[in-house]
Amino acid sequence: EPAVRRHEVAMRQFVGGKVPLGLKRKGMRVLVTGGAGFVGSHLVDRLLERGDSVIVVDNLFTGRKDNVVHHFGNPNFEMIRHDVVEPILLEVDRIYHLACPASPVHYKYNPTNVVGTLNMLGLAKRINARFLLTSTSEVYGDPLQHPQVETYWGNVNPIGVRSCYDEGKRTAETLTMDYHRGANLEVRIARIFNTYGPRMCIDDGRVVSNFVAQALRKEPLTVYGDGKQTRSFQYVSDLVDGLMRLMEGEHVGPFNLGNPGEFTMLELAKVVQDTIDPNAKIEFRPNTQDDPHKRKPDISRAKEHLGWEPKIPLHKGLPLMVSDFRKRIFGDQDSAAT
Ligand code: NAD
Ligand code: UDP
Ligand code: UDP
Repeated sequence: EPAVRRHEVAMRQFVGGKVPLGLKRKGMRVLVTGGAGFVGSHLVDRLLERGDSVIVVDNLFTGRKDNVVHHFGNPNFEMIRHDVVEPILLEVDRIYHLACPASPVHYKYNPTNVVGTLNMLGLAKRINARFLLTSTSEVYGDPLQHPQVETYWGNVNPIGVRSCYDEGKRTAETLTMDYHRGANLEVRIARIFNTYGPRMCIDDGRVVSNFVAQALRKEPLTVYGDGKQTRSFQYVSDLVDGLMRLMEGEHVGPFNLGNPGEFTMLELAKVVQDTIDPNAKIEFRPNTQDDPHKRKPDISRAKEHLGWEPKIPLHKGLPLMVSDFRKRIFGDQDSAAT
């Protein structure tokens, strides 16, 4: 026994935290930037479940400690409060780069998409980690092709109010491909379509969280414009599954990850009424500038190369989110769900 212990101590000093050749690690060391956010925290759950060690880097701008607090005390979990706009030194095998203020009310305040992505690419290059960028369907802008295929270059206003998000993510994709070609970095790009589920920010202005919170609070559902614009809504567990398949698969992408089920905002309001309160009223508001008219992913590429497709339709996923929102809004322990 003492010999084993001596060996352990010596190994630890010798490798300085790195695993020497020939010694197989149990899981991988994974960095999740934005891991205290909505999507990131669900990804962290799955990675820890499968035996990886996870480091979350998050400045808690839109994320919350509550989303990951159930892992505090787990030796395989670590959280660093840090803004990715500043450089950082870490040693990991995989980087899921999600850090980004993702809703219109937040994203205009922050150069995260460009500077943060550059730093995380620099980090990935130094330590030779595989890097996954969570890009967005917004790179297609107000699309002139429907549904959107990955080969479509998009229709984006470079100087509009949404541009720092759309163009920021487009630049992030460019940087990612430049590091791939120029520094031989292993990269993956996901273009995520509208995603919903438990732990979504309650008041960040996105349509599903707005409608659900409004219906629960007995406020009217605010439909912007004529409500005939469409979106496709994906449940968060489907997305996390897609991200992990993409990371561990062989293909760079970009891959659309979204649910092809397409709804107008009026149809979405109806599903929310059916799920929460049939008497919920609808109130029309002026639409925001440059709002895309339609959005629906073509997911043939992900089906073929990742063997992935979403499994949870809106009417099944929405109730799972509603019980989480109910608990967070009213503190109702009985309807707890994660
Ligand atoms: P979120 O706001 O819940 O999560 C983003 C996280 O990043 C938060 O925890 C926030 O605190 C953190 N963050 C923001 N700026 C940071 C910075 N400078 N340094 C460190 N941390 C920072 O949003 P989400 O919905 O979970 O989105 C995750 C990723 O997925 C984002 O990159 C987003 O662009 C992308 N995405 C999401 C959707 C969606 O519908 N949810 C759609 C398309 C793309
Ligand atoms: N970077 C980082 N952590 C690292 C390595 C790099 O945060 O471990 C940052 C670094 O500060 C730089 C960016 O990543 O701003 C890009 O790094 P790279 O080495 O690619 O570019 P260079 O520093 O040569 O311009
Ligand atoms: N929207 C709405 N009511 C709201 C919030 C948003 O009708 O309370 C509309 C918005 O105009 C857009 C759609 O819902 O057409 C999706 O908006 P969101 O901000 O959720 O996502 P994105 O526009 O980024 O796809």
